[in-house]
Amino acid sequence: MRITVKGVVQGVGFRPTVHRLARSMGLHGYVQNNGSNVVIEIDGNAAEFIMRLREALPPLARLDDVAISDGLPDSELRGMGFRIVPSQQGTRGVGVPNDTAVCDACLKEMFDPSDRRYLYPFTNCTDCGARFTVIEDLPYDRDKTSMRPFPLCPECKKEYSDPDDRRFHHQTVTCPVCGPRYYLLDREGLRDDERPIEKFALRLHQGNIGVAKSWGGMHLCCTLDQLSHMREWYRRREKPFAIMVRDLKALERYGRPSTHDLALLTSSHRPIVLVPKVDNEVTELVAPGLDTIGVFLPYTSMQHLLFHHLKEDALVMTSANVPGEPMVLRETDALALGADMYLMHNREIVNRCDDSVVRSFQDKTYYVRKSRGHIPSHIDFPIDGLAVGVGAQEGLAGALSFEKRLYATQYIGDATSPGVLEFLEESLKYLRRLLGAEKLDAIGMDLHPGHSTRRLAKRWAEESGIEPVEVQHHHAHAAALLVESKLDEMVAITVDGTGYGDDGVAWGGEVLLSNLKEYRRVGHLREVPLLGGEKAVYDVRRIAFALAEMTGNGPDYFKENERELFRKMMPRSGTSTSFGRVLDGISGYLDICQYRSYDGEPAMKLERWLNEARHLDLVPTVRHGNVIDTPAMFRHMMDARGSKADRAGSMVYAMVRGLVEIAAEKAEDEGIEHVGLSGGVSYNRAISTWTRELVESRDLKFVCHDLTPNGDGCISTGQCAVALSRTGR
Ligand SMILES: [Zn+2]
Ligand SMILES: [Zn+2]
Ligand SMILES: [Zn+2]
Repeated sequence: MRITVKGVVQGVGFRPTVHRLARSMGLHGYVQNNGSNVVIEIDGNAAEFIMRLREALPPLARLDDVAISDGLPDSELRGMGFRIVPSQQGTRGVGVPNDTAVCDACLKEMFDPSDRRYLYPFTNCTDCGARFTVIEDLPYDRDKTSMRPFPLCPECKKEYSDPDDRRFHHQTVTCPVCGPRYYLLDREGLRDDERPIEKFALRLHQGNIGVAKSWGGMHLCCTLDQLSHMREWYRRREKPFAIMVRDLKALERYGRPSTHDLALLTSSHRPIVLVPKVDNEVTELVAPGLDTIGVFLPYTSMQHLLFHHLKEDALVMTSANVPGEPMVLRETDALALGADMYLMHNREIVNRCDDSVVRSFQDKTYYVRKSRGHIPSHIDFPIDGLAVGVGAQEGLAGALSFEKRLYATQYIGDATSPGVLEFLEESLKYLRRLLGAEKLDAIGMDLHPGHSTRRLAKRWAEESGIEPVEVQHHHAHAAALLVESKLDEMVAITVDGTGYGDDGVAWGGEVLLSNLKEYRRVGHLREVPLLGGEKAVYDVRRIAFALAEMTGNGPDYFKENERELFRKMMPRSGTSTSFGRVLDGISGYLDICQYRSYDGEPAMKLERWLNEARHLDLVPTVRHGNVIDTPAMFRHMMDARGSKADRAGSMVYAMVRGLVEIAAEKAEDEGIEHVGLSGGVSYNRAISTWTRELVESRDLKFVCHDLTPNGDGCISTGQCAVALSRTGR
């Protein structure tokens, strides 16, 4: 019988498991990688074999689809024993496994002085290690990975060929004798091969800033007592850094993870998790003004070794890049960063992959960035057909749908530089190549005429002889949420910084009645002028001023002549219905953050005040039809007596209440059960919590993100869905 298996079945020890099982059952036949599938032929009962295979499945493997067919006659298989035969090209598909944190068995070897892999920083096995970041193409064999230049030594060959060894048929099996190695470069690029990790640790301890190459990129690192120095040197005044902690015990000094946070932290994906911050001087320097801190645990062998040699229990670890550009991959680019030292290795990075960033919302996972450890996983997709979504402009990730599955690319970045656009194209091409996805059925892009991602969409559309589909930004948010929650329709509250509306206004506080194909805007926040356009995004006092001026006099932190000027600008300025901009205005008015130095800063710093609010009744919801009158409510907040937290909390709560009211009314009118929440603003815990409570108090079902990012990382997924729906599939 022939068994064809689809799923994550390559690079995860699947064939060896099949081999062991077949031998234990006394079966004859073979197992073979075929394109992205695995084909098994046995001279016995296929159903029983599959059942036992499921029980014996290695930890990283996943069976999505198993088909049984006739295959070779038993007489031909008999007498051949059971063999793993060389891979064959075949049906394409993205069966590439994720990068997975080094496993306990490997760690044990690494720290055992009698083991041949003692302190070897590339130790990995069938159950762990780099995959996506080293795999060039399928089928997954060593010569299609960045391990190609490292032929196996006799010992490794023995492990590779021994069916009883943990590394039997492990494609990236390696050891200190035959494998890649780390070395240390100084400022000038002078190389030192002697105990590089130990020296790197020592010099970090002495106060140096270093760059360390890992699996899918490079990190800038320093000890926590060098934070001020790092901020000055890297010109990153306020933006939070993530810290890697030695272990969970060390974490207690910096954060207070929930049970769900702990599960995320220790998962094999090892993301950066934003956990509630322990307040002290150090954490305040790591994440100024925020009540969360980004923490993660070591995941590569090198990182474990680094902590083995290091006196400190935590390190600042942040993607090494020139601001605005993707993370650096090449040594020459790293050297241009001007750090004190560089811990480099001689294995090429095939796919760049930034660390994933997540935060818990109750029992859900909000992806701020869905990247390392999750790529290239897929989610179920409701429509058949090959579509690409190129995303919006910021916090980009691309997406591709194929055979009712949706694959997202790794985190790409903000499409402000040509480097980022190239990275987007390369990443989508990689997915297309693995899938053998030649001719596109549909391609979705943002409605905003100025978005540079549209150029890629138009070029690819032309190559496939189709028209690109323009997808409104917030409709894409809603569609992504529909896809991941497997719903046909919902009323979606989409709250973010900005997205181009179909009336040309910058939207961002919207209630949309939405299915995959269409949407109707059924409510929104009132338009507020952005004084000086982009300038108001950075000097958020301008937003506070505009909000206040609409109902009386603006606050007096501007000089009289400036105020006169702003008043004249009011009727001529572009407007926005963005929830994020109002949060900025509140943050500016209450002097929580008046100038933005990084994306989202004023709103993020407002969050801790919202979480601390005890009285939420200081501001009424003012609503005219389906428009929430934020300026009128802002005036109430200005006049209210109460703590800063209560005033901020009451204002935001009243806005949420207004949007939920509209959403609930529409849902009831249309007989829709679900109210969803999407957009970057929904990362805010207080806002998510209030939305959920208010939706559920109306006996409606609350839907939030758990698989795709709440922010603009989900736009490409929504674009795929809308584009395919509109092309009539
Ligand atoms: Zn392992
Ligand atoms: Zn070896
Ligand atoms: Zn958005």
